Order: sequence, then C-alpha cells, then structure tokens
Amino acid sequence: MRRFPLLVLLLATIAGLWWQRVSVGEFMFGQIAERRAGRNALAAYGDGLTLIFCGTGSPLPDPQRAESCLAVKAGDTLLLIDAGDGGVRKLAGWGVPLGGLDAVLLTHLHSDHIEGLAPALLLRWTGSAARTPLPLIGPPGTAQVAAGYNMMLAADASYRTAHHGEAITPTGGGQFAGQEQPPGVVWNQGGLVITAFAVNHAPVAPAYGYRIAYKGRTVVVSGDTAATPAVARAARGADVLVHEALQPRLVAGITRGLAASGQARTAQITRDILNYHTTPEQAAALAAQAGARMLVLTHIVPPVPMRLFEAAFLGDAPQRFAGPIRIARDGTVLHLPASSSAIDEDAL
Ligand SMILES: [Zn+2]
Ligand SMILES: [Zn+2]
Repeated sequence: MRRFPLLVLLLATIAGLWWQRVSVGEFMFGQIAERRAGRNALAAYGDGLTLIFCGTGSPLPDPQRAESCLAVKAGDTLLLIDAGDGGVRKLAGWGVPLGGLDAVLLTHLHSDHIEGLAPALLLRWTGSAARTPLPLIGPPGTAQVAAGYNMMLAADASYRTAHHGEAITPTGGGQFAGQEQPPGVVWNQGGLVITAFAVNHAPVAPAYGYRIAYKGRTVVVSGDTAATPAVARAARGADVLVHEALQPRLVAGITRGLAASGQARTAQITRDILNYHTTPEQAAALAAQAGARMLVLTHIVPPVPMRLFEAAFLGDAPQRFAGPIRIARDGTVLHLPASSSAIDEDAL
C-alpha cells in the first residue's frame, strides 16, 4: 500500500510531461542543440596526422557506409581525399568543422568518389565566408568535374549570395578551382607533403594513390586499384596503409543471386568488378611487403554487417600480415601524434 502514492506520483508526472509535450520538447531540443551546434570534433586531437573515415563503402548500396570519403587533418590543414555520396554530410553531422577545408584531392573520377562534392563546397563556403574557389586537385579530367559542378551550382550560389549577402556568402567562394596534376608532389604546405602515384584501376586511367607525410608520420592511401607493387613501393615503412578491399568469395553469393533472379546484366557487373579491385589477402601481402605497421581496409565490397562477417571478409589476410588489420567503419578515426610512433584509434 505504501507504494501506491509513489505510483500515483509517477503516473501524474508522466501525464504532466505528456500534457506539456510541446514545451518540454522545445526545451530539451534547445538544450541539446546549444551544446551540439558549433562543436569541433577535431579539437580533441593534438598536433599530428589525423584520419577521419567519412565514407568506407562503394557504389553498392550500404545503409552503414557512405561512398568513398577520407578527411585528413595535419596541423592547421584540413583536406578531403574523395567525396562520394553521403560522406561529407556525415562529417558535418559528427561536428567536423568544414569551414577550414583547404582542398579536395581526388584519387580518380568514378562517380562513387565525386558525387558527394557539392556539400563540401557549400559547407566550406558558408563556414568560412570564403572568397576564393575551393581547390579540387586530381588526375586529368578533374577540371571538367570542377567546371560541371560550378555550372550545376551557379544558380544556387547566386541565390545564397542574394539571400545572405556578400559578408556571409561572398561571390566567388561557392565554386571549385580544378587543378589537374601529374603523379608527383601535389601538396606541400605547412610541413604536409602529399605525393600522388599511379595505381592500376584500368580502364580508369590515370588513377592515383596518395602518400601523406607530416612531422615524421606517414599514411598511404591506395585509392581504387587492383593489387599493384606500386602501392607496396609507396607504402615502404609507412605507419598506416589504407587499402581498398573486395572479397570475391562473398561477392560470388550476390552474383549467384542476381543470375538466378534473371538479372544477368547486373550479375555480369559483379563479375567485371573483380578484376580492378584488391582482395583483403592481397592487401595484407602488400602491407607485409611494404613493411607498413598497420593495415586499414576501406571501400568495402560487398556491403556486409562486419561484426558478423568480419572473419569471412578477411579470409587468410591475418596469415599474410603480422601487424594489426582493421576494417574501417564510417566514423573510424586514427590519430598519429607528431614525432611519435603511437597510432591512436577512436570513433566519432
Ligand atoms: Zn570506388
Ligand atoms: Zn573506382
């Protein structure tokens, strides 16, 4: 019987909250929004090389993975390597401030690496009142991608300048400046040196991987490629090799399902993709050959819930590379402190 008044009190409280649900919702949302808006998810990491995996998927639809996207922070420099669909919006949602974005580097011009570029442009422009175009650096063909985006977004940019004014969204900031670069050093500022090297993603040519060096730390990103010694050469002694990965034994199940359901053309596409990607086992062998300290797999094909299928996806990879192998998820963070040998792992 003594519990009865407590129960009445609890029910009365719930009823009261329900009755006032509009003002309760407004209050709670306001509290959360004030805390979340304007936060800087990168503030926690000190000087060094920080990688934020914003898209670890491929063109195959995957509810857990955006298309290819990797943010690289080194000192005051913030770059993106590729901007596939959904990746940049994930960064913004995690509280990564994109007003300070200095440039976007493209590995190649497949749609899953470029079709999420528009939010990078908009968020950098509105976040910094930039007056100059955002550099878009990549292989031949990059200037055409930049010009195409500029044409597509010209009306949008003019509306925003008209609406918010020159002080907030100045003319000229809502555009890309395409820079086509041959293999070699494509970025050298503030101690950050990025070198493009050719990989093998035929018939996509040229396609680049990037070697990223900052204050004694080195990360190599393969881009999309079949297994190639060029990656092992570029990754010699690297702290981290970030390599794309496709597991043919798991893709085979999708191929069988498509063929059995009469989707012969799509089934053939799943056979065609095998010859210009790298298996986890091959990536592990390249990491071992290079003497890299850690292997991180990304551009994960096929889309599978990894906790359940991680072992099947990796296959024999752990037997071919003695160091740690990670399967990147959207939100995976690696921080390599300057002049250190630590590799700190985190998640947003
Ligand atoms: Zn791709
Ligand atoms: Zn590709």
